[in-house]
Amino acid sequence: MADIVFRNVTKRYGGTLAVDDASFTVNDNEFFCFFGPPLSGKSTILRMVLGLEQPDDGEILIGGKPVNSVSPAERNVAMVFQNLALFPHMSARDNVCFPLVERKVAEAEIEKRLADVSQKLHIGHILHKPPAQLSGGERQRVAIARALVRDPAAYLMDDPISALDARLREETRVELKRIQRELGKTLIYVTHDQEEAMSVADRMAILENGRIRQIGAPAEIYDRPASSYVARMLGSPMMNILPSVRDASGVRAAEGAIRIADATAPAEAIEIGLRPEDIKVQPWADNETAEGGAGRPARVFEVEPLGGYTVVTLAAGQARLRALLRGQPDIRPDAMVAISCEPAKVHYFGQDGGAL
Ligand code: ADP
Ligand code: MG
Repeated sequence: MADIVFRNVTKRYGGTLAVDDASFTVNDNEFFCFFGPPLSGKSTILRMVLGLEQPDDGEILIGGKPVNSVSPAERNVAMVFQNLALFPHMSARDNVCFPLVERKVAEAEIEKRLADVSQKLHIGHILHKPPAQLSGGERQRVAIARALVRDPAAYLMDDPISALDARLREETRVELKRIQRELGKTLIYVTHDQEEAMSVADRMAILENGRIRQIGAPAEIYDRPASSYVARMLGSPMMNILPSVRDASGVRAAEGAIRIADATAPAEAIEIGLRPEDIKVQPWADNETAEGGAGRPARVFEVEPLGGYTVVTLAAGQARLRALLRGQPDIRPDAMVAISCEPAKVHYFGQDGGAL
């Protein structure tokens, strides 16, 4: 078992609270992501798992054993460094074997482990090549092989593909997810890219200033963000969040330009959140004849056709809203449209930003 547990772990650097009372469990064989903006404490958490940093407070357990006083070498977790960290003058084979040679593992054992990881990572045919002759994906595999050759209980990656261009990043993350599933090992992965986190993680933790704000499966957090902070962190375009007022029939925002008829809306709500894909946009003329005619008037401010979908920025009173529409609807700037949203899709946030 290689589950990794933090119990109320705090880490300070001088006056900086890098990690603040973090508690979480990464399950055995899980692909677990830490996601947050720069300086939110992601790398510090990884370094404490590795044992390169000691917590000031709290307990860390790996496979059920407390490891606070266990040295990095004895923790049996391996950091996968970025592609670039491969030794350029060594073949892929020598790169992979390096951690074992360094530990003076017997030659026969090295050959056995090399054969094993090469087969798992499909790199047998490229072992003779130096890193410069490998593709980005192949280099990634070699870097993972070098970490796995030690047969760690878990492996860690700190923003490993942020240096790659967008297309290669997409390819690499698909690859990583497949490799992790095939290997069946615990992987802790750090990223500041929301799309990457959502696409690879079984579960993720969202960080803000050293604090874990929410833990869950990506879809679960997306659908039920615990706070307006988390709601803003996931989704592109970002969730529309507007100050709101409760009234007899429901909720008003943008000086009444937006109304949600929801008598069950929580009384403490001071903000509403609308996902761009939950906003329905119709030509104003259709709305007047439509049964119920529930849409509110809005003016099209700008239209961004992105191929498969279109982002429409709407002006409703003083507020700007972004709606995500499928395909390339015939909507022009300055047109009047009717906008609506199912009450069940509206998010409500209270005074402290917490979801209600
Ligand atoms: P992230 O990986 O999310 O960008 P870090 O874990 O690197 O965040 O940093 C968290 C906070 O701790 C930041 O405020 C950072 O400046 C501080 N910090 C990290 N490492 C050190 C260090 N070695 N010395 C002093 N402050 C540090
Ligand atoms: Mg970092």
